[in-house]
Amino acid sequence: MSENQLEIRDLHACIVDGEAILHGVDLTVPKGEVHALMGPNGSGKSTLAKIVAGDPSYEVMQGDILVDGASILELEPDERARAGLYLAFQYPVEVPGVSIANFLRLALNARRPEGDEVGVMEFYQKLQRAVAALDWDESIIERNLHEGFSGGEKKRSEILQLLVLGPRYAILDETDSGLDVDALKTVAQGVNAARGRDFGALLITHYQRLLNYIVPDRVHIMAGGRVIRSGPKELAIELDERGYDWIREAVGA
Ligand code: ADP
Ligand code: MG
Repeated sequence: MSENQLEIRDLHACIVDGEAILHGVDLTVPKGEVHALMGPNGSGKSTLAKIVAGDPSYEVMQGDILVDGASILELEPDERARAGLYLAFQYPVEVPGVSIANFLRLALNARRPEGDEVGVMEFYQKLQRAVAALDWDESIIERNLHEGFSGGEKKRSEILQLLVLGPRYAILDETDSGLDVDALKTVAQGVNAARGRDFGALLITHYQRLLNYIVPDRVHIMAGGRVIRSGPKELAIELDERGYDWIREAVGA
């Protein structure tokens, strides 16, 4: 069972030389499922995502993070990617002079064992399928990565990377309230296209509206550096209607 999940186990973490932010997070995303992580501002959602990515500004004091049963705590960020994790913000925002196609081919090969590079035809077919799944024009792949991209195009490119790289688990932090409906739909389109037996995702979102487009298998609520409640998709709707206060009161958080 633990062979097929992303597991965050009793995770306590602080800012390096600073205060504790996570106070015992327990959260499991089985392969094949899409979970939503919600919660008020400042509850530690983005911090959790950054710690899973291996951000050196945080320190894990207790607990573990396991991918398919193996701890990734001692791994460098790029090794975590090779272990099958996709964390959008790990990737460069802009790479002058490198096209999307070339960047993705390099990124894909970096995740494979040496000498086992992806074939050119195989790569372009993969890329074309992903571009089509996002209703994007094929010419996009020759543009330089994120150079002059609008916010919505960057978002789409991030999701294109997800589809081409085919990670086992993805954590997407979509808290940005500035995302317009089109960008939300893009995220949803990509995640829904990636959905399948071999893929698990944790979708961090402040608003329920993203979940109009992606129906999560499970919803977790974070407050005060802990997951205080987990439940079926209806929990997100209840939160949207009632806000967070009742749940904080209910658990004394
Ligand atoms: P969320 O994403 O749920 O809104 P965050 O994880 O961004 O919450 O932040 C949780 C808390 O930790 C906040 O109080 C935030 O100010 C603090 N925090 C997170 N990262 C840092 C940091 N690098 N330096 C100082 N405070 C931080
Ligand atoms: Mg956040």
